[in-house]
Amino acid sequence: MEQLTTQQMERVAMLQLRNQIWMVALIIWGCLLLLILLLCALQFYLDLRRRARQSSDTLTLTCEHCSRSFPVPLAHFYRHPFLLKKRVRIQAGIAYSIIQSYRMQCPHCHRKSWCTLPVEDSHSLAASLLKGIWHRHLLRFLLMEGAVFIFGLLCLFLIRTLLTP
Ligand SMILES: [Zn+2]
Repeated sequence: MEQLTTQQMERVAMLQLRNQIWMVALIIWGCLLLLILLLCALQFYLDLRRRARQSSDTLTLTCEHCSRSFPVPLAHFYRHPFLLKKRVRIQAGIAYSIIQSYRMQCPHCHRKSWCTLPVEDSHSLAASLLKGIWHRHLLRFLLMEGAVFIFGLLCLFLIRTLLTP
């Protein structure tokens, strides 16, 4: 086997060092990107929950037992996140819709029964909460991810060019 010259050995050592630094930088970069994603998701969730609690909207539910309707404040669903819930597929002509039912005590017949949300309310429930906030959150998320992404790319590029013998 051919002996490596001192110069060649130095070059190999340098390349190994560069690769190690490169790997560490890559891992830190990935972790940072993931961390931003998690933080933004958490912030979004907290913001949504705060809005839901402060909301003064009410939803009209219909008792499956006595077929009568009653209003429930939106905030109620967020104060009781473990309400039993089910989704029901109902056929309407050739199309179908999904309606949501909650297991609740009906104020009319005083029975615990499945109370259904009207179809349009299930959509507006989420929509009314998301309105005005989702694009702000998305923009912040993209800006932060973009900045870290570009900064990371720059660092990796510098490591490659400065440390390559
Ligand atoms: Zn009832």
